[in-house]
Amino acid sequence: MTSAIKKIFIFMSLSIVVTVAYQWGNTDGQAGRGLQVIDAAVAADNPSQISPVKARARDFYAPNSEDLAPDEMRLIACGTGMPTARPKQAASCWLLELGNGDKFLFDIGTGSAERIAAMQIPYNFLDKVFLSHLHTDHFGDLDALFIGGALSGRQKPLRVWGPTGATPERGTKYALEHLFKALTWDRDGRAGLTDPRGYQMFDITEFDYKGVNQVIYQENGVTIRSIPAIHSLDGPVSFIVEWNGLKFVFGGDTYPNKWFAKYATGADLAIHECFITVPDMIDKFQFTPQSALAVGTQIHTAPEAFGKMMSIIKPRMAVAYHFFNDFDTSSSINDRIRSTYDGPLSLSIDYMVWNITKDDIRVRMMIVDDAVWPPPASGKPQLPDTSIRIPYSDMIANGRYDMSDVIQPTYDAINKEYGLNEQQE
Ligand SMILES: [Zn+2]
Ligand SMILES: [Zn+2]
Repeated sequence: MTSAIKKIFIFMSLSIVVTVAYQWGNTDGQAGRGLQVIDAAVAADNPSQISPVKARARDFYAPNSEDLAPDEMRLIACGTGMPTARPKQAASCWLLELGNGDKFLFDIGTGSAERIAAMQIPYNFLDKVFLSHLHTDHFGDLDALFIGGALSGRQKPLRVWGPTGATPERGTKYALEHLFKALTWDRDGRAGLTDPRGYQMFDITEFDYKGVNQVIYQENGVTIRSIPAIHSLDGPVSFIVEWNGLKFVFGGDTYPNKWFAKYATGADLAIHECFITVPDMIDKFQFTPQSALAVGTQIHTAPEAFGKMMSIIKPRMAVAYHFFNDFDTSSSINDRIRSTYDGPLSLSIDYMVWNITKDDIRVRMMIVDDAVWPPPASGKPQLPDTSIRIPYSDMIANGRYDMSDVIQPTYDAINKEYGLNEQQE
């Protein structure tokens, strides 16, 4: 391919991804901007002189490519789905970035770690995770961020905030201490091989799940509060972030509750769960009608109830999640929400991006490089202490087939290039 043709091909590929993603997003009544096109009149007058790859404003977000203004927030959906895994939607996970440089993850549900990787943000900046509750669709990929992040540049402990439960065994501290124990083989097997700093025990802040508008985080001009939620058992919470005159609310799973109605009021952007409709739960998830009614309307928030809650709190942008957002499900969800709410609305899908300022909320889709590699670490790596390697037993060590002759040239080349004297084991 000539380079010009290659460029056109890449442009067309991107266009298809963005167009499809834009339709999936199905945002409605929001303040986002429409697709911007090249000056059509100029193009028509000079068809042969206008390159189709000429730089222009495009209506997608390329990861890690735009600085935020000092007063701007950016929210990216890293998971909008459900406990049942699917390629199109990971489970609940939201990255909030602030103009002061802070980044926060709210939930880290199953499958979301790869979406987080797609952001191409150095892992040192992804060290703060807030858990709404301990269902796997809200914290099932914490192990992936913990280990994979430590391996790829997080040079400090992972900080995690989460609620207590009605008993100590149902609290965040218990869950994470046992997750850390469950990873004993994984951690021991890495000892002495890589930078150890990211593998330290989670830095856990467990707070009272019954706290109402209680401050659980206050650093660098950012205040995060929690309010209780009503979901499955005592314990779940929602979060309210206030910074620089902007208010962001992340609702974890809940039956609609009075704390959200009171404390989420006036949010610039409010995320709230919105469950799949009861008929679709029966038809597509094979729930019994009894279970569909109980789970879809009592344990979670039905679309009509989502709309009613948004009509109460009146956010500048309402974001619905926790449903499989497809061509044959989103219209019924939208219709039911619209029976009780007519304000700005995003029916979220993974990789949807919101830029929020006091004057504007822009909604776009992110383009994704499937073949992403970790970004450079933001700090110098620390050499491992090889003396803490845990040796194989003699029986296992003696099972090595001798490959030293074919591996030695790699040692020679690397030792020469980097001025080292590393030896094979
Ligand atoms: Zn849940
Ligand atoms: Zn959930």
